[in-house]
Amino acid sequence: MSDVTLINIKEEILAENKGLADKLRRRLKERGAFLVNLMSSPGSGKTSLIVRSLQELGSRYRMAVIEGDVDSAVDAERVAREGIRAVQIKTGGSCHLSAAMVEKGLGALSLDSLDLLFLENIGNLICPAGSDTGASLDVALVSIPEGDDKPLKYPLIFRTAHVFVVNKTDVREHFDFDVEAFRARVRRLNPEAPVFEVSCKTGEGIDLWCNWLRERVEEGR
Ligand code: MG
Ligand code: ZN
Repeated sequence: MSDVTLINIKEEILAENKGLADKLRRRLKERGAFLVNLMSSPGSGKTSLIVRSLQELGSRYRMAVIEGDVDSAVDAERVAREGIRAVQIKTGGSCHLSAAMVEKGLGALSLDSLDLLFLENIGNLICPAGSDTGASLDVALVSIPEGDDKPLKYPLIFRTAHVFVVNKTDVREHFDFDVEAFRARVRRLNPEAPVFEVSCKTGEGIDLWCNWLRERVEEGR
């Protein structure tokens, strides 16, 4: 018999987070609100994609945005300039959003009067992929200047996200990003997930992305 009691903190925290995330998903579904979690490296264009999507879907849905950042509220202020309700979560150093943080963000909104909520996760491709937020749709965003090798370097997020968006197609000719190679790498890890190519700057591809998103929202409510 051993006198050692082993407590696996990481597993306990993950299980607790998953339990809360499942609860949030049920609560959102009951209220008819669809939560979309956006993940990417810093600077890929999460806020820009949210703003474009708000503009494209504004006549159809009542929307709000929850912004996660280590510090500052610049992204929430940008969203608020669109006339959209924005909640800023300052994580104070934490590098991903947990379900508990999302629960606090949701607490600042009246879910009954919302159809679609965007959640902007902290900019990195590692731990946000391992922490369930309670969202019904996980979006991973990469941009042309980052390179087409991201699926090789960060397999977890490319295995688990439901959809991929390649942003900044307007600068395509200045970089060596091979879209077909990227698509093939994604397919190897995640055969079902669609890949959209967009430019949040010019608006190219935003309609296709938003049409697809609309179908997911309708299915999910
Ligand atoms: Mg941002
Ligand atoms: Zn983290």
